[in-house]
Amino acid sequence: MGKAKTILIVEDEVKIAEVVKSYLEKAGYEVLIAYNGKDALFLFEKHNPLLIILDLMLPDMTGEDICRAIRKKSRVPIIMLTARIEEENILKGLEIGADDYMTKPFSPRQLMARVEAILRRVSQDAIPLAREIAFNNNELVIDSMRHEIRKDGKPVALTPNEYNIIMNLVKYPTKVFTREELIRFAFGDDFEGYDRVIDTHIKNIRQKIEADHKAPRYILTVHGVGYKFGGETGEI
Ligand code: CA
Repeated sequence: MGKAKTILIVEDEVKIAEVVKSYLEKAGYEVLIAYNGKDALFLFEKHNPLLIILDLMLPDMTGEDICRAIRKKSRVPIIMLTARIEEENILKGLEIGADDYMTKPFSPRQLMARVEAILRRVSQDAIPLAREIAFNNNELVIDSMRHEIRKDGKPVALTPNEYNIIMNLVKYPTKVFTREELIRFAFGDDFEGYDRVIDTHIKNIRQKIEADHKAPRYILTVHGVGYKFGGETGEI
């Protein structure tokens, strides 16, 4: 099986799973379906899919639990499907590491657009820069060859979106980004959602890379405007 083109659908509603599967197959992907959480984790481990479409409500586990379990091991892009439309739930999904979400009922075409947009971002992201960049006396190291950020020598588990956000801030160290700009730079033009999504991602990133996430030194809030990068480079 061509692992590089495999997408895993985790959805207990057979009809939805089948419709999404047929759209993905038409677009050239290999598709696996898990109808419950146990199978989802099994298929994830076995096939290492390129992307996961994950329903929140499953018979044996919640989508949140599955997402958390996967995030301990992988940065694979995850799109959550949710029947719950409250912004709060969406933000919660993003907090535990989903990259995007779709609210049911959704149009399969729109889902396909999200899938393509995320995969495009991930592949652009993979363009290697020449070197590692170290900040604050090697406390934080961005290794763009290995696509990795290390804090105190240990790799930080970041989602592709979180990595994109940091890379954009780092690339323009003097620039103050508005939320809107950061969304456009990191997620592309076809992102539809709340500006607050950025705040959630920033909060997560800070918890992962800052020594004290309440007194951040890498991702600084510029009051009334947005965010900028504050790491200090030593030797490159
Ligand atoms: Ca369901």
